[in-house]
Amino acid sequence: MDPETLLQCPYDKNHQIRACRFPYHLVKCKKNNQKIAKQLATCPYNARHRIPKDEFNLHIEMCESKISFEMNKVAVNTGSKEKAAWKCPSPQEDWENDAEETPARPFVFGAIVSEDGS
Ligand SMILES: [Zn+2]
Ligand SMILES: [Zn+2]
Repeated sequence: MDPETLLQCPYDKNHQIRACRFPYHLVKCKKNNQKIAKQLATCPYNARHRIPKDEFNLHIEMCESKISFEMNKVAVNTGSKEKAAWKCPSPQEDWENDAEETPARPFVFGAIVSEDGS
């Protein structure tokens, strides 16, 4: 999901929270809305879904995360194949050249910089 997507807070209709902050907001907002929190159930397919208990059965039927939840179960079964494919991302000589020029630079750091720059 896009981290900038605005999600509706289940505790307060006036709250619109970016997806990347949503889990933190839920924890905070739950403390401020204990009464409402008690009346909400957590969706078994997506922990971000908080549903009023009287709508819970309906939500289970219609939840959009149900499909991806089922697909994840399939992905776990075929996951070992994907992992093997990720082991060799580029030819070995590229790695050696890179190591000589920037020996202490972690690969992840470089990836973040290029994302910000472009
Ligand atoms: Zn909130
Ligand atoms: Zn759900």
